[in-house]
Amino acid sequence: MKNMYIPAEYEVVRSAELCTSCRLCEKQCANEVHKFDEKLGRMTADSSKCVNCHRCVCMCPTRALKIVKSDDTYKLNYNWPVQAMNEVYRQAGSGGVLLSSMGTPTENPIYFNKILVNASQVTNPPIDPLREPMETTVYLGKKDVEIKRDAQGRLKDNLPPQLRLTTPIMFSAMSYGSISYNAHEALARAAEELGIFYNTGEGGLHTDFYKYGRNTIVQVASGRFGVHEQYLMTAAAIEIKMGQGAKPGIGGHLPGMKISDDVSRTRMIPKGVDAISPAPHHDIYSIEDLRQLIYSLKEATAYTKPVIVKVAAVHNVAAIASGIARSGADIIAIDGYRGGTGAAPTRIRDNVGIPIELALAQVDERLRQEGIRDSVSIVVGGSIHSSADVVKAVALGADACYIGTAALLALGCHLCRSCQSGKCNWGIATQRPDLVKRLTPDEGKERLVNLVHAWTHEIQEMMGGMGINSIEALRGNRLMLRGVGLNETELRILGIKHAGE
Ligand code: SF4
Ligand code: SF4
Repeated sequence: MKNMYIPAEYEVVRSAELCTSCRLCEKQCANEVHKFDEKLGRMTADSSKCVNCHRCVCMCPTRALKIVKSDDTYKLNYNWPVQAMNEVYRQAGSGGVLLSSMGTPTENPIYFNKILVNASQVTNPPIDPLREPMETTVYLGKKDVEIKRDAQGRLKDNLPPQLRLTTPIMFSAMSYGSISYNAHEALARAAEELGIFYNTGEGGLHTDFYKYGRNTIVQVASGRFGVHEQYLMTAAAIEIKMGQGAKPGIGGHLPGMKISDDVSRTRMIPKGVDAISPAPHHDIYSIEDLRQLIYSLKEATAYTKPVIVKVAAVHNVAAIASGIARSGADIIAIDGYRGGTGAAPTRIRDNVGIPIELALAQVDERLRQEGIRDSVSIVVGGSIHSSADVVKAVALGADACYIGTAALLALGCHLCRSCQSGKCNWGIATQRPDLVKRLTPDEGKERLVNLVHAWTHEIQEMMGGMGINSIEALRGNRLMLRGVGLNETELRILGIKHAGE
């Protein structure tokens, strides 16, 4: 009974009328669900292997397939839902930690959905973004708190290096290894065309992508995979990853089957062996240690690159951010509880951390109270679903947002949450050459550019509706927000009033 039978979660339903046995579904499914049965003379399916990625459904030329939730289940029990029972069976069989990917699917509140945005009506009228200029450019980095002039009255510009974004959106950290070469190329080229940035994650930078350096943020994570002088010098900015929203308190994990020759060369690690970076940086046990690493990286790059420190949103994130702001970082990136990942222990992904909306509001408030808000920019990520979430995040105090899952959706991801298997049927979270080629960098780049253009236009419309013509004027402008269905504590933490007030 070591491997107990577990009912399939999904069922593959094939229309006998529409199916022509062309066997395309068989070729499309890396999970080997579909098979042509010679004896029966028709297609069959092993539903137990289906992860509901919808690839076969989308590709079937006669629309003969659909995937439904299986009704093969146990006796109804609200105390022990089917998923909880199955997970116990799996662990009793394997003795292992449950692994998952992408953001948590649990039902905890999404505060962005409980916040509404204001609009102007009579006085301070709306601005029409189709007819009037609407500024979405953002500069990330330390700002001067006062305007200084030289003896001739000219403005003194002593600003440290800044990142210039045409819109308050960047692609969040996704490593080569976790995602494919083609997905990485699509992100890099889209970032270049849009005038924004993409992020290498902890996977190093493939030499083919050095040419996109001006739009690249390189990560220095606890494993230091792929970190060397040229890597740092090539980038526009350097991000020290202290934590990640999907797995606060633990290191990164890239399953061995995704470590191909090319990935192993880029990361400077062995091929085919799980890459698990340490939970802490072994040279950082205090803010002073963090400061040393920040200044070592600045020194190594001749003070030409802004340094970002990325942390997971946790209970005391405001105090942590205050320390980071004082440690010499130029930008703080905060990754919320719902953030995505290529692989994480399920229990950590679903139970550790706090929502980004609460973390952001608290960090912005604390830095303002301490008079150090301008010494650092704030970038937030962790399930930014739409342009409206970007607007709300900026009004809560963010300078810009990282988008990860939304970018992957633009590339074709269907959120089957099986990235850790290395068998992504959409060619994104895989290194298998036959799957990688399903996503072309040209098409991927175009879809990413379209998404960010569409969101930017919507951001401009919402800003115009509020009578605001510059994203800078929206930053931290919480008067533009109202809560619906939130209690007093939630409203206090978010620093907003209830709708109707
Ligand atoms: S895993 Fe994806 S491609 Fe395979 S049967 Fe399920 S939905 Fe179709
Ligand atoms: S990237 Fe691929 S494997 Fe991961 S959730 Fe999306 S479709 Fe599934």
